[in-house]
Amino acid sequence: RIPVLCIDGPTASGKGTLAAAVAERLGYHVLDSGALYRLVGLAAERAGIATDEAALADPAVVARLAALAERLPVRFGDGRIWLDGDDVTQAVRSEAAGMAASRVSALPAVRAALLALQRGFRRLPGLVADGRDMGTVVFPDAPLKVFLTASAATRAQRRYEQLISRGEPANIDSLLADLEARDARDRARAAAPLKPAEDALLLDNSALSVDETVQTVLSWWQR
Ligand code: C5P
Repeated sequence: RIPVLCIDGPTASGKGTLAAAVAERLGYHVLDSGALYRLVGLAAERAGIATDEAALADPAVVARLAALAERLPVRFGDGRIWLDGDDVTQAVRSEAAGMAASRVSALPAVRAALLALQRGFRRLPGLVADGRDMGTVVFPDAPLKVFLTASAATRAQRRYEQLISRGEPANIDSLLADLEARDARDRARAAAPLKPAEDALLLDNSALSVDETVQTVLSWWQR
C-alpha cells in the first residue's frame, strides 16, 4: 500500500503547518481536506445555493450540494487552488468560507461525494493527509495517525496572528467564539464526528514550537 500519514484535530491546531513540513521532509504529497469542504462552500455561494441551517434542512438543497461536491471543478498546483479556472487560494482561507465549510461538512451526502476525490491523493511516494476524519474514515488503514490538539486560547491566538500577518481584520474574541462553535459542530455531528481514531497518537502542541512538533511526528513515523 502507498504510505499515508494522517493528521487530524480541531480547527487551528496547526495541522496545515505540520502536514506541509512533514510532507516536505518526506517528499510526500499533501491533502488539505478542509480546503475541499471550503471549496464546496465557495462553489455553493457562487452557484447561489444558500448554506444556512434553514436551507440545509431542505433535501433538494442537500442534493444540489452533493452534486456540486461530486464534480467539484477544482485544480491544485504550485501551492494555488483554482475553482472553475478562478484562483481561489485566498478566498478559501477566509473565515466565511470556513464557516460555510463547517456547515456543509455536516451533510453525509457531501462527505460521501468527496471520498473518492480525497482517496485519489494517495499517490507515490506517499501522502500526508490533514483533516478531521483522515484516520477514522478516509484512510483507516494508515500506519500512523496523529491527533493534534492545542488549547482553544492558543489556537485563537495563532489564527489571530495568521490573519493579522495577511493584513486581514481579526478580533481575538470572535475568533475564539467561531472556532469553539466550529469544533462543537464537528464533534456533535452524526457523520464522521471529530474524534481521535482508536489507534491515533495524541499530540498537544500548546507548549511546543513548530519544529518540536514536526520532530515528534517524524520520530513516530521512523519507528
Ligand atoms: O481545516 P479547515 O478549517 O480548513 O476545515 C474547514 C471545515 O471543514 C472544518 O471546520 C470542518 O467542519 C470541515 N472538515 C471536515 N472534515 C475534514 C476537513 C474539514 O468536516 N476532513
